[in-house]
Amino acid sequence: MQNFVLAIDIGGTNVKAGLVDRNGVISNVVHQPSKAAEGRDALLSVIKDVVENQCGKTEIAAIGCGTPGAIDHKTGIVSYMQAHIPDYTGTPLAKYLSEFSGGIPAAIDNDVNLIALGENWKGAGKGSKCQVSLALGTGLGGGVVVDGKLFRGSRGRAPEFGHMTAVLGGEPCTCGNFGCYEVYTAPGAMTRRANHYLASGILSVLSECEKITAAEIVHYGNLKDQLCMKILNESTKYLAKLIWNIAQAFDPDVFVIGGGLMKAGDKFLSHLNRELDKFYCPDELDPMYTIKISELGDDAGILGAGKLAWDWLDGIDR
Ligand SMILES: [Zn+2]
Repeated sequence: MQNFVLAIDIGGTNVKAGLVDRNGVISNVVHQPSKAAEGRDALLSVIKDVVENQCGKTEIAAIGCGTPGAIDHKTGIVSYMQAHIPDYTGTPLAKYLSEFSGGIPAAIDNDVNLIALGENWKGAGKGSKCQVSLALGTGLGGGVVVDGKLFRGSRGRAPEFGHMTAVLGGEPCTCGNFGCYEVYTAPGAMTRRANHYLASGILSVLSECEKITAAEIVHYGNLKDQLCMKILNESTKYLAKLIWNIAQAFDPDVFVIGGGLMKAGDKFLSHLNRELDKFYCPDELDPMYTIKISELGDDAGILGAGKLAWDWLDGIDR
């Protein structure tokens, strides 16, 4: 019996891969530029390289892989991907992974789903009965793990919390709709709004920053820069509303929040908790859930992909 599965985390910028044993110990980690912007064929050639390289080092029991896009976990096909990875929609990724490795079984899932699974296995969601993960990055991704298993909906597309509607007819979103939560709360949206306001001539200390990040907006918001305070207040209000709505739907015991914004850590959480305190909650139900910051950082996706592969082998999740 082989002791390792190969875990792959495909991102817009990098492909990260490593071996994961049954205890969640990661080894042989490699990073390679994903070439995703060049399209499906360029990305697949990078993945082929990574798989062949890793499979040459040791015997591997199965492959688990996280990728952006709407994923049909059952068939191993990328059901839909926006223009960020040209021609990726319809790719039978699990089949390719198996071919590249000489016939090793492969399972795939959405990258944020696997971040949630990784945190549930070895991170901030350990021991949780119902965990909701929110990944705050360029966009806003989500994952739900119930009793150690991913909740995927009927076709593997759930949950897309970032594209739930916050404002009817609001600002345009990359998904083609208007007013999605992602447009108001993701760090990518915060920096976009900051640049928009600065271009219109509003004064702010941000104009002296070389590159504006959400963490800087939180930092200067705490120092009472008016523009940063405005963006921070709006973002946390919408994020609190989203968390409250999700809590009503799923009754989670823990929210695990990760992504670039969490570099601002406690400072951001204190703003968020202040907004959440504005919702009424009967004493008998308090606390409804706890909010934790991701413990695994960049390793969450690899560990989630590893867990997916082990669960597939064990027949727990096929
Ligand atoms: Zn959207």
